[in-house]
Amino acid sequence: MRTTFLLTVLLATICCSSAPAAIELAPRGKEPVYLSDVYIFDGIPFVDVDAALAAVSLRGHWNSIKHVFRIKTARGWAEISPASAFLKFRDNYYPIKTKPRFIDGKLRVSEDFLANQLPLLIDRPVYYRNLDPRPTRNVADESTLDRLFSFLLRKKERVAGPMINGVAIDPGHGGLDNGVIASNGLREKDINLQLARRLSKLLKMRFGVPVYLSRDDDYELTEQQRVAPAAREDVDLWLLLHAQASFRAETQGVVLLIRPEDSASPTQEDEQSASLQLAMELAMALGDAEIPVAGIYPTALLALGSGDLPTVQVETGYLSNPQDLNRLQDPAQQELLAQSLYQGVLNYIQKSEETP
Ligand SMILES: [Zn+2]
Repeated sequence: MRTTFLLTVLLATICCSSAPAAIELAPRGKEPVYLSDVYIFDGIPFVDVDAALAAVSLRGHWNSIKHVFRIKTARGWAEISPASAFLKFRDNYYPIKTKPRFIDGKLRVSEDFLANQLPLLIDRPVYYRNLDPRPTRNVADESTLDRLFSFLLRKKERVAGPMINGVAIDPGHGGLDNGVIASNGLREKDINLQLARRLSKLLKMRFGVPVYLSRDDDYELTEQQRVAPAAREDVDLWLLLHAQASFRAETQGVVLLIRPEDSASPTQEDEQSASLQLAMELAMALGDAEIPVAGIYPTALLALGSGDLPTVQVETGYLSNPQDLNRLQDPAQQELLAQSLYQGVLNYIQKSEETP
């Protein structure tokens, strides 16, 4: 069964700009708020965090003891800090390309935060528009803005012989970073690793190719270490394994995430990106095993990099949902999940062999 497409969260393109500048900001579908108090620092627009939050009906305050800015959301507290390249939201840490900074006596957030982090905090897409986009960005800006996630992953030219050369798998989180934690104490980082080991074994056994895990035990990784396996010369596809949680207990199912630029219209069969094709094969294989699939989504929230290496982040289920939780912690069900992902990869490779 072909999964229904829910291509929703396409975020506004991030533009660059130089002073003077202004932006418009609002939850998608609401009247945009005009913010003219825009500071350009290192070529990047920054706006007052209070004004940005007010535009999406959120509020926050500076905690001068912990030196963090705390934001109240409907789903719990979030924290940002000028000292941290991460947004802390409940138990998760989400990378921020450009740290917030104090400019002219106020804490200000970058356009990256507005476009990529605000949607997470309000649990819906955000309309963000830079009213003074200047199309040129110099090399110095590039190095500042994109240092963390500028990695470009290129599909490798395959020579005749084995149908695939190597696979990279990233079991999400690790070490102090638990990821999501279920009410019974089950930790996402452990599920991700267990599944990665099962899938890795299947791929190695049946394809006879190397499988590179970003971590093979419970420890923390730098962003560079997380990406390194996918950047290898012999790697043809990259799977990132995660699980998630929802504040609605009934929300369940596997969610497959791809880069926004990979989400061409599903009606144009020929135009589909390799990542979308891979996600569709994974969804169908999971469906065949009667594992519920909630959809395939383009997302700008995650560290999927750019380029054309077939890349899918598999959110294997919701630890907040009783059925998903049972499925993810049961070894037999974990094995079925790994088998289905393996089958999806196999189908994807076989189909891409057929089409020249
Ligand atoms: Zn995760």
